[in-house]
Amino acid sequence: MKDESRLIFVSKNQQKIKEFKISRIKLFSSVTIFLLVVLAIGKFTLDYMVDFSVNNEMKRLERTNTVLESRLEEMKNKIQLLSGQINVITQKDDQLRTVLGLDAIDEDIRKVGIGGTRYDFDINDEVSGFNENISLSKQLTEVAKLEREINLELKSYQELLNTYNAKQDSMAYLPALRPVVKGVLSSDFGMRTHPILKYRRYHEGVDISAPRGTPVYATADGIVRFAGRNGGYGNVVYLNHHYGFETRYGHLNKFVVRNGQIVKRGEKIGEIGSTGLSNAPHLHYEVRYNGQPVDPKNYYFDDQILNERVVAGTMSSK
Ligand SMILES: [Zn+2]
Repeated sequence: MKDESRLIFVSKNQQKIKEFKISRIKLFSSVTIFLLVVLAIGKFTLDYMVDFSVNNEMKRLERTNTVLESRLEEMKNKIQLLSGQINVITQKDDQLRTVLGLDAIDEDIRKVGIGGTRYDFDINDEVSGFNENISLSKQLTEVAKLEREINLELKSYQELLNTYNAKQDSMAYLPALRPVVKGVLSSDFGMRTHPILKYRRYHEGVDISAPRGTPVYATADGIVRFAGRNGGYGNVVYLNHHYGFETRYGHLNKFVVRNGQIVKRGEKIGEIGSTGLSNAPHLHYEVRYNGQPVDPKNYYFDDQILNERVVAGTMSSK
């Protein structure tokens, strides 16, 4: 038979011989089935392995995502903290600018800034799946804002330094000290109902409360224009400083300077009292610039340690 193959098995010692007859078609189909089974097993194994690695990758990405989200949350909090600190710096900057006679930085300029970067890729954020609260573009916009504000402050500080260097001589005559180092501001500058007269009138200075006998210091270098009793002010000292500044210290228990005396910033000129139109020991403190009352808070520094240092420095140099 032509269309017939033979499979012959011979045992090792050649004692047994087995012979199988098999048609070519049968042989061909057997081999084909065998190959198909092998291929099927191979594919199944491969699919399983791919699934396994995809799953692992998903889990890894999930973990990464959680870490990223918490980092973003941290970043958001840090940015908020920095924003708060920048606000404090901005306020101090405005104060310094007032002291040095510079205009405050315009609010619009602060908001718009110069050459700021805008981040408009909220769509990407949506795709990335981060929630609105910690959206990357939002944080980046905040960072860009901080960058802008810091740049503004750096420019402002340079301007302040230049102005200070140019005006150094006149600085000694600016009322930059608090007249009562540890006193408490008890009444502000501006319109108010007078505590004794009980009607609305303009308060031309600030009231600083402290116990009777607390020292009152000259807030800038100057000359005593008047030290004596004057109506509602009670015992009062007027100091003339150069460059258009005058300061007034009212309701003193006593004064320790006389007319025409030259005083240094931080030098004691009197003590807290309740003379004149006053119902409790406090200092009525005025700053006048070219004859007009101005808010003393715009000129003195609130930093207690700095104030103490100036007073101590003045005392030790005497
Ligand atoms: Zn007052």
